[in-house]
Amino acid sequence: MAMLYLDHAATTPIRPEARDAMLPYLGERFGNPSGIHGASRRAKDAIEASRERAAALINAAQPLEIVFTGGGTGADNLAVTGTALAAKAGGSVVTTAIEHPAVLESARFVERLGSRVTIVGVGHDGRVAPEEVAAAVDERTAVVSVMAANNETGVIQPVADAARAVRSRFPDVAIHSDAVQAFNSQPVTVGGLGVDLLSLSAHKFGGPQGVGLLYVRDGFKVEPVLHGGEQELGRRSGTHNVAGIVGMIAAMEAAVADREGFRNRVGAARDGFEDELRARIPDISITAPGSPRVASHSHVCFAGLDAETLLVRLDQAGIAAAAGAACHSGAIASSHVLSAMGMSDVAAGRCIRFSFGWTNVSTDGAAAAERVAAVVKEIR
Ligand code: PLP
Repeated sequence: MAMLYLDHAATTPIRPEARDAMLPYLGERFGNPSGIHGASRRAKDAIEASRERAAALINAAQPLEIVFTGGGTGADNLAVTGTALAAKAGGSVVTTAIEHPAVLESARFVERLGSRVTIVGVGHDGRVAPEEVAAAVDERTAVVSVMAANNETGVIQPVADAARAVRSRFPDVAIHSDAVQAFNSQPVTVGGLGVDLLSLSAHKFGGPQGVGLLYVRDGFKVEPVLHGGEQELGRRSGTHNVAGIVGMIAAMEAAVADREGFRNRVGAARDGFEDELRARIPDISITAPGSPRVASHSHVCFAGLDAETLLVRLDQAGIAAAAGAACHSGAIASSHVLSAMGMSDVAAGRCIRFSFGWTNVSTDGAAAAERVAAVVKEIR
C-alpha cells in the first residue's frame, strides 16, 4: 500500500525543479561566495541572481531587502529579536498567542533582556482581532508580529488589517509576518500583507531544509543575531548555503506558478477528506471550520481517542500525519495554539493535523478518509 503523506506542514518532499537547480552546486559549482576567485564569483552570482528572483516573487522593491537565513526559525529570530534589539532602550514586542515558537521564544528572549512583550489572544475561531493587536501597541513598540496562517489549524490571520490598524496610530512600528505556512496557497507579497518584515522557509514549499529568507524593508534596521563574517550586509553572518538558496528560489518560483492549481487540487483533496470523514465518522469535529483556512490544512478531533495512539496506527495503515506541536522533538506536547483557542489539554489530545501538499492529487482526500475511518473503527 502506497503511503499517503499528509504532513506537508512539517516538511515537504523536494520539488524536482529545486533538486535539478541544486545539483550543480553540490558538484562542480562548490565555491564560497565570499571569496574573489572565479569559483567564488560564480557562487556569488548565483546568490545575487537568487536574491533578485526572490525579491520579484514577493514584490520587494529591491533585492537587498532579502536576507538569506538558515530557515524559518532564523528569519523569525532576526525579525523579532533583531528589531527589538535595534530599537533604542529595548523596544517592546507585540505578538499573538498562536505564533510558532520561533516567534514566541524570540519574544521571551528579548523580554529577558528587558523588552516588554504583549501577547494578544485569539478567539475560538483561531483568529486574532486586528483592533486588539493595534490596541496593544504603544510608543515603545518596536515590532508587531502576526503570522499569515497558523501551522496547526491552517487559519489565515488578518495581517493586512492588523498592519493598517497599527499604522493608523503608530506609522513607524515594524510589522512582521511569518508567512511560512501561507506561501503555498495564498498570495504572499509584502504590499498585499502590508508588512516591513516577512519570513519564509524553503522546506515548506518544496525546497530544501535549512534555508529560508527574511524580507527587511529598506530603512528598517535589524540587529544581527548571528555574528561573524558579516555576510548579508552584516545582517546574517555565516557562509551561504549556496545550493540551498538556489534550490529555495527554484521551489519558490514553482510554488508561485502552481499556486492556483495548488488551491484547486489540494483544496479539493482537503475538502474531499473532510466531507468523506464526516460521512464515515459523524462524531469528529473539525477545528475552526468557519474560519478562512489555507487549502492544505485539516485539523480534526476524534471523540474519545488518544492522538498519539491514533498516529501510530495511522502510520501502520500508511498515513503520515501529525499531532499538536509534535514537530520539535518527536514528543507530543500540548498545543499552545489550541489552548489559546479555548480548548482543554484533554480535548487537544484527541486532535490530529492532516496537511496536504504539492505531492497530493485531489482524490487523495477521500482515499485518506477511508483509511482513517477504518483505523478509527478498529481502535474503537
Ligand atoms: N514558522 C512556522 C509557522 C512554521 O510552521 C515553522 C516550521 O514548522 C517555522 C516557522 C520554522 O521554520 P524552519 O523549520 O525552517 O526553521
